[in-house]
Amino acid sequence: MANFEPTLEYAQGQDDIDILFSFRERFHIPQHEGQDCIYLCGNSLGLQPKSTAYLFEKELADWAKWGVEGHFNAERPWFSYHQQFSPSLARIVGAQKEEVVAMNTLTVNLHLLLLSFYKPSGSRYKIIMEAGAFPSDQYAIETQVRMYGHNPDDAIIELSPREGEHCLRDEDILQAIEEAGESVACVMMGAVNYYTGQYYDLKSITEAAHRIGAIAGFDLAHAMGNIPLQLHDWKVDFACWCSYKYLNSGPGGVGGIFVHEKHGNNPEVFRLAGWWGNDESTRFKMKKGFIPAKGAASWQMSNAPVFNMVGHRASLDIFDKTNMRDLRAKSKRMTAYLEFLLQQLNHLSFTIITPSEPERRGAQLSLLFHDKGREAFDALTNQGVIADWREPNVIRVAPVPLYNSFEDVYRFYEVLKTLAV
Ligand SMILES: *Cc1c(COP(=O)(O)O)cnc(C)c1O
Repeated sequence: MANFEPTLEYAQGQDDIDILFSFRERFHIPQHEGQDCIYLCGNSLGLQPKSTAYLFEKELADWAKWGVEGHFNAERPWFSYHQQFSPSLARIVGAQKEEVVAMNTLTVNLHLLLLSFYKPSGSRYKIIMEAGAFPSDQYAIETQVRMYGHNPDDAIIELSPREGEHCLRDEDILQAIEEAGESVACVMMGAVNYYTGQYYDLKSITEAAHRIGAIAGFDLAHAMGNIPLQLHDWKVDFACWCSYKYLNSGPGGVGGIFVHEKHGNNPEVFRLAGWWGNDESTRFKMKKGFIPAKGAASWQMSNAPVFNMVGHRASLDIFDKTNMRDLRAKSKRMTAYLEFLLQQLNHLSFTIITPSEPERRGAQLSLLFHDKGREAFDALTNQGVIADWREPNVIRVAPVPLYNSFEDVYRFYEVLKTLAV
């Protein structure tokens, strides 16, 4: 990572040798005063693939042409529409095809999976999560705990960084799990914390959870399409994600779940049932008695929300043309370049709270301002930089390897350099 240079020529040279550079062409880049914005917000909402509009029109045309017969006669039949995503999703999270399915949206999926995998019983009723998790995850876990008659203050163990630190230490996470021992039913963490950008060690957390007899689940919102995962091999029990951040599937786009095959193929594992989770061969017999399909697909309830999945198709078509290894290699280098450039600045008062080790973070850096953070953010916005503001004082920036360039990163630095706040 050494020999970075803080010059435009250097950044453009990096773009020239970037094997992923042409992917930028596949996306609409928002404009500011007739020029491409410096879009560093793909961790919040990914950009729109240019192919998305075409696929929407195609689906509308099939509906117009076929009516109900489109379930089988559409070019991508709606009856099995959800199935086309599994191979791509399986590659992205490191799973078998039957372990993943695209369905619903993130918080809904988190609740459904907790209903299956957070099963408090007797003295084993606690759930471990990171302090300062995304609010939706906090609300979900709090209400799940209440549903079983427990007090969240007692039943939820929140892991906080040490005094004066911003991120959790891996050894502290493992120690907390071990110490809580048999009181724990489930360990449920983000994979990448939305605020700090810290990427946790999913494999060792899963192992630690299993050692104490607990279930391990992860919210992949900020890891999906950002960091290569091996959920199957790591023996993660369950995971869920949204597809509108690094996966570029559009606002509120369909989410997805992973259920390890050891649970997915076990009909004894409780899941809330609907007809789309029923075994396909008996689904239309319209009989009593739910027979779960194989794998994660059995967690589906309703038939595929096709128009909420079209953007997902456009996006995954692009992921299918590359792979997480190449994306991650570029991402690590680009984020390190961003970090290098930020370290050249000394007129602004901020600390990068994201871990400095590339293995402990994804594409995002979080800048904690000690002073004038909001002013800096507003000035950036006025100059065509789209980043993300989080209360109380953090600007998050995420160079995304699919469509950001080293030049974007350099231009962001240039704007910051001349910022008078
Ligand atoms: C983005 C995000 C959400 C959003 O949840 P939705 O149900 O998709 O609205 C939830 N949790 C985390 C950790 C997130 O990053």
